[in-house]
Amino acid sequence: MTFEYAPAPESRASVSIKPKYGHYIGGKFVAGEKHFPTINPATEEVLSSIALGSKKDIDAAVKAAKKALDIHWSKLSGRERGKYLFRIARILQERAREFAVLESLDNGKPIRESRDVDVPLAAAHFFYHAGWADKLEFAGVGTKAKPHGVVGQIIPWNFPLLMLAWKVAPALATGNTVVLKPAETTPLTALLFAEVCEQAGLPAGVVNIVTGDGSTGALIVNHPGINKIAFTGSTEVGKIIAESVAGTSKSVTLELGGKAANIVFEDAAIDESVEGIVNGIFFNQGHVCCAGSRLIIQESISNEFIKKLQKRMEKIRVGDPLDKNTDLGAINSRSQLEKIKELSLAGDAEGAERWSPQCSMPDKGFWFAPTIFTGVTQSHRIAREEIFGPVLSVLTFRTPQEGIDKANNTPFGLSAGVWSDKGSKTLWAAQKLKAGVIWTNTFNKFDPTSPFGGYKESGWGREGGRHGLTAYLKGVTHE
Ligand code: NDP
Repeated sequence: MTFEYAPAPESRASVSIKPKYGHYIGGKFVAGEKHFPTINPATEEVLSSIALGSKKDIDAAVKAAKKALDIHWSKLSGRERGKYLFRIARILQERAREFAVLESLDNGKPIRESRDVDVPLAAAHFFYHAGWADKLEFAGVGTKAKPHGVVGQIIPWNFPLLMLAWKVAPALATGNTVVLKPAETTPLTALLFAEVCEQAGLPAGVVNIVTGDGSTGALIVNHPGINKIAFTGSTEVGKIIAESVAGTSKSVTLELGGKAANIVFEDAAIDESVEGIVNGIFFNQGHVCCAGSRLIIQESISNEFIKKLQKRMEKIRVGDPLDKNTDLGAINSRSQLEKIKELSLAGDAEGAERWSPQCSMPDKGFWFAPTIFTGVTQSHRIAREEIFGPVLSVLTFRTPQEGIDKANNTPFGLSAGVWSDKGSKTLWAAQKLKAGVIWTNTFNKFDPTSPFGGYKESGWGREGGRHGLTAYLKGVTHE
């Protein structure tokens, strides 16, 4: 028996979007010169007009951040800094519905995820780092560690508010001030966060938000007044940033792409694993750096598993991100949709077999059905390149070692999943996998106390936990 779901749309009433935004510099909104539209990817409706940050804007933001650092922020005790972070965390909780609706409108992600994952985790990051602010000397980093100063932070569009929290919370807890640029397609929750800073009474200039495109990001990276860069985004841009800061005194952390293996052994609990694979690749439309985009499955159970996976995928509800029943929302932008289509066509051309469930999708907006490719080999582009969409590549293995070898055969090393009934096997696999985060019998579990980051082309450094804190301190001695 199947149930039909009646529409359950979340109201937009909690959100008020201005027709035009400037930059948030030195504690106030200042007008921009040029503007570009930000749209709702589910409907292509223009939501607002956003300022394109210029050299003048970045100069002003860096100056404001340095002034705030010198005259105010560096004079505060950790305990006082912590109070601001606690306040921000509580305001995020109080305004959770507003942030969740705005995030779903600007990004296209289902309200179920922005409401239950993005916003609560963003608040959790501020709570966690608020707790560290007055205890840095007990963080195992010695007593001489000092903040870098002015930190430039560049974030992507897949988790706009959450990536802001990952960056801003540890920077403030450790005594740095910030110039942050949200992604071109998702600036609205960062601009709403500026209001939260004001509401929390944060001293002017401690957090500055300059909107814009990649050229604005490059201005931040190359500004001589910036002491550290924290970046999350593509490996391609990460490499450009690494080249730009080479030979300067700037410190840098890069959280880049991934092509995670989700390895299912023949002794795994099948139904539970199917659920984990679905979560691993279709959460957030697959716009996740640690997405389990390669299913590496033991050949003996592969046919049965794929049948169950397809049956489960038939139940994925694709559509209006603001509907509380929606599982898979809109693709974030036209250009990302084109990239997903192009790589999927490469999968067809290279001989893999494509399958998607029947699903009706809205006429307007950017949509891509949940998709799996079977018969994928290690040389296929869909096994090697980050698709960053709801597309799963399935590869098989016969012996456990072959499974590990296939999982590690990637230029990335951000995350991996292992599914087995045997604890000893999961530990054996975890030791052999070259990935920064490894989940066993679960996937996509995030916690501010846990460091996150990768090997190889997945980036440099860690975010979250004690490891993430140290990235915002210089002179760390690990006493
Ligand atoms: P980018 O790496 O281009 O964007 C990430 C951030 O960097 C954005 O704020 C972007 O600005 C900014 N940026 C772009 N160019 C520069 C530059 N030269 N110097 C400094 N900052 C810059 O990712 P995209 O959004 O274009 O996505 C492309 C691909 O990257 C995706 O298809 C996906 O594969 C991958 N990706 C991976 C992410 C991850 O978390 N690992 C996150 C996002 C994307 P703007 O948005 O204005 O261009």
